[in-house]
Amino acid sequence: AAARLSSSGFIRSQGFIGGKWTDAYDGKTIEVINPATGEVITNVSCMGARETNDAIASAQEAFISWSKVTAAERSKCLRKWYDLLMSHKEELGQLMTLEQGKPLKEAIGEVGYGASFVEFFAEEAKRVYGDIIPATLSDRRLFVVKQPVGVVGAITPWNFPLAMITRKVAPALACGCTVVVKPSELTPLTALAAAELSVQAGIPRGAVNVVMGNASEIGDALLASPQVRKITFTGSTAVGKKLMAGAAATVKKISLELGGNAPCIIFDDADLDVAVKGALASKFRNSGQTCVCANRVLVQEGIFEKFADAFSKAVENMKVGHGFTEGAVDVGPLINDAAVHKVESFVQDAISKGAKVLVGGKKHSLGMTFYEPTVLTDVKNEMILAREEIFGPVAPLQKFKTEEEAIRKANDTNAGLAAYIFTTNMQRSWRVSEALEYGLVGVNEGLISTEVAPFGGVKQSGLGREGSKYGIDEYLEMKYICMGNM
Ligand code: ADP
Repeated sequence: AAARLSSSGFIRSQGFIGGKWTDAYDGKTIEVINPATGEVITNVSCMGARETNDAIASAQEAFISWSKVTAAERSKCLRKWYDLLMSHKEELGQLMTLEQGKPLKEAIGEVGYGASFVEFFAEEAKRVYGDIIPATLSDRRLFVVKQPVGVVGAITPWNFPLAMITRKVAPALACGCTVVVKPSELTPLTALAAAELSVQAGIPRGAVNVVMGNASEIGDALLASPQVRKITFTGSTAVGKKLMAGAAATVKKISLELGGNAPCIIFDDADLDVAVKGALASKFRNSGQTCVCANRVLVQEGIFEKFADAFSKAVENMKVGHGFTEGAVDVGPLINDAAVHKVESFVQDAISKGAKVLVGGKKHSLGMTFYEPTVLTDVKNEMILAREEIFGPVAPLQKFKTEEEAIRKANDTNAGLAAYIFTTNMQRSWRVSEALEYGLVGVNEGLISTEVAPFGGVKQSGLGREGSKYGIDEYLEMKYICMGNM
């Protein structure tokens, strides 16, 4: 796949500044590695503050014209970008599997998901309405207009190399903003390919810039620039807090999608098949490397044995393998060695504190960064994996007695992104959904993300919402205009 993509020009290795492929000033590069094989796919430019400032200047220049283009015209360009992403679904999916490891089917699925934000915001571009407010004095007329905030700095992680970018860039472009994207250094190739397609779609050069390399230097340059009016970030809570503090110096708008600690609550009255299927989907998607993956499976005592049995069988049946393997692979490798060490240490900690392994519990025989899909039982709150995000294919089962106990346990965390509940009792589904301190709740469903619904967390899981009609507000300023002496 690497050779084919390379010869088709789909693998780019330079930054994308002002619509031009650009080397780092000092010529430095960093390796992009295939996590399934350890092979170097290519070396990409390793950039820092200077290149970031160039990208900001390009974005600022592009902003002057792009913000004045009609919404209809911006909409057409975004729609064309969507069409191009979709017509290159296979190549983009292959590129993603190559640099990120996820099974090809899942990667192609992400291209569709990522592109859906572009389609959605192509449509929303035309619906950025203002207001007219009845005046308090008869000679006045009061208006509210919405205007693009300006240049946006978008910093994204490696777990969704396309979707985390389009869900920021599409609403930004839709309302007239321009962007400097800093993808994860682990997965820059999908970002670069998507940026190139944006220019082919007629989005002006300079409206979408991509720089990668020294993350903190790039981040600091984005924060320091008074021209960057908005920072949007998906990643770890620790980095999110740094960015939030850094944004204070120039009082930028900020949106953060940070870590989760998703509870998946299975009540006695759940439909067992639905619960097993839902918990499996929410836990093992992307090898457990998503911020909405079930991190704690809380199971009521009456259904515990049956659920643990059925769930363990389903986990044993999952196929682990290279993303490019013919036939269906359910679980790919983890992103790198550090991720494997973290999962290993969490599992060791749990075992040392009394957890029992029902399935898996160690590195997979495929070697590299493959880890066995794992189910643990007898999990207690003092274990690290009950408190911190595992980001790997490990499902810890905890028993509870009452609904109140489940809610208390579920809310006993600083995170508040996604939660899942499984129950056939209608009153309970509503009652518990309301009681959960989370930004998203799945009821009898393990996969709930969609471009049409607002995604985002409460507490330390973040600020702001992405996707949906609400997602565009993050890139708009409101202006009140008062006409007097009429
Ligand atoms: P993850 O654990 O998902 O890799 P990170 O928060 O480390 O989460 O990474 C998310 C994104 O933030 C990546 O693009 C990474 O390069 C970037 N990043 C890491 N440190 C900083 C920093 N100090 N300033 C700006 N961006 C950073």
